[in-house]
Amino acid sequence: MDCIFCKIVQGILPAKIIYQDNSVVVFDDILPKAPQHKLIVPRKHISTLNDIVCDDQELISHMLFKAKDLAKDLGIAKSGYRIVFNCNSDGGQVVYHLHLHLMGGKLLKP
Ligand code: AMP
Ligand code: ZN
Repeated sequence: MDCIFCKIVQGILPAKIIYQDNSVVVFDDILPKAPQHKLIVPRKHISTLNDIVCDDQELISHMLFKAKDLAKDLGIAKSGYRIVFNCNSDGGQVVYHLHLHLMGGKLLKP
């Protein structure tokens, strides 16, 4: 499958990976929109949020908990941060492999 995030997860394409476990890989966004901008990416290829199924509940929950833990590790938990799932074209999704944006380190405009 021609998917850049699958290739990063599989180690075929480089990325600045800051965390990984059995179900997710977290790396720096290549075009950061904030001083801290990480992408929390499941190892499993899921195209969009529309495609999650009941079996993915634990994975989605894990992604959210990971975002919270990383925000603390990155020192942005107290000042605040934003987490975003973009879905399909109107949502601004560009990479069709599910990912959760974690952004912080400055005041984010709405
Ligand atoms: P989205 O618009 O939600 O699909 O976001 C895709 C994000 O992936 C964007 O913020 C891009 O800057 C980021 N991105 C695209 N290619 C790479 C890459 N090779 N490594 C890291 N981040 C990437
Ligand atoms: Zn993929």
